[in-house]
Amino acid sequence: MSKPTLSIVVPAYHEAENLPVLHQGLVAVLDEANITWEMIVVDDHSGDETFAAIQNLSSNDARVRGYRLARNFGSHMAIACGLEQANGDCAVVMAADLQDPPEVIPELLKKWQADDQVVWAVRAERQGRGRGAQGFSGLYYWIMRRVVGLKEMPSTGADFFLIDRRVINSLAQLNENNVSIFALITWMGFRQSEVSYDKQARLHGSSGWSLEKKLKLVVDSVTAFTYLPIRLMSYVGFGVALLGFIYAIIVVVNALLGRPPEGWSSIMVVVLVVGGIQMVMMGVLGEYLWRALDEARRRPRYIVEAETQRE
Ligand code: UDP
Ligand code: MG
Repeated sequence: MSKPTLSIVVPAYHEAENLPVLHQGLVAVLDEANITWEMIVVDDHSGDETFAAIQNLSSNDARVRGYRLARNFGSHMAIACGLEQANGDCAVVMAADLQDPPEVIPELLKKWQADDQVVWAVRAERQGRGRGAQGFSGLYYWIMRRVVGLKEMPSTGADFFLIDRRVINSLAQLNENNVSIFALITWMGFRQSEVSYDKQARLHGSSGWSLEKKLKLVVDSVTAFTYLPIRLMSYVGFGVALLGFIYAIIVVVNALLGRPPEGWSSIMVVVLVVGGIQMVMMGVLGEYLWRALDEARRRPRYIVEAETQRE
C-alpha cells in the first residue's frame, strides 16, 4: 500500500461498540473529501471485545490496523504507540467515543495544507459531561497554562488535533515515560493553530479516566515541565525557618527575663505544623525522584501484546 496522506490514530479502552461507528463516520467524511488515509487503533488492554472489533474492521477494510498493549498503559502511551506506527504525511489523534466528530477533520487538514504543523481542535462547548469532570479538566488546563507556563495549551482542553510528519518524528525522539503527549506537543513549538468545534456526548460506555489516573496526569504534567514546586518548597522552608528563629529569640529573651512561656500547647502546634510541612515537601521531592528513576531505567514506554492480522 502506498503512503497515505493522513493517519488517524485512536487510543481505545473499552470501545468495542464505538469503533465501528467511528470507522463508518471516517469513511463517510474522508472518502468524500478524497484523501488517502489509514486508521491505527491502539487497544489499551481493554477487558471487553475491543481488539476483536479492531480485527473485524481490519479484515473488512485494509486501511485499518490495530495493536493491543500488554497492559493498561494509559491513553497517552497508546497514542505514542499509534503515532510510531503511522505512515501518513500528517496524523490526526482522536478519541474512539465519538466525542470528537470526524466532520472536523477536513477543517484540520485545510489548516495543515495552509502550512500549519500543529492544529488543535478546540472545544467550543461540552455536552453530556458532569460539572465535576468539567471542573477538573478546567482546573487542569488552568494549571498547565498559568502554573506550568505552557501558554499555547488550548484553555478548554487538547485531545483532538492534527500534527505534521515533522512533529510526529520529533515526538518519537523525545521518548519520555511519565508525560502528557498533549503538553509535549505544546512545549515543542512549531507553527500551531486552532479550529473550534462542539464536543459531543460520549456515544457508548463511560470515561476511562479514573480519579487516580487524572491525579497522576496532573503530577506528571507538572513535574515534566517545571521545577516550580521545588522552588516553592525552598521559599516555604525559608519562611518557616525565619519565623522559627524569630520565635526562638522571643522565647529565649522571655526565659532570661524570668518569664518562661507556658509549654505544651505551643510546642505541639509547632511540632505538628512543621512536621506536616516537611512531610508534604518530602512527598514532592519523592514525586520528582521517582520519575527520575523511572526514566533512568529506560524501560520501553509501552509493550505491544498483539497486532491485527491480514488474512
Ligand atoms: N483511553 C485509553 N486508555 C485509558 C483511558 C482512556 O486508551 O486508560 C482512551 C479512550 O478509549 C478514548 C480516549 O482515550 O478513546 C479518551 O478517553 P475518555 O473518552 O475516557 O476520556 P474523556 O473523554 O473523559 O476525556
Ligand atoms: Mg471521551
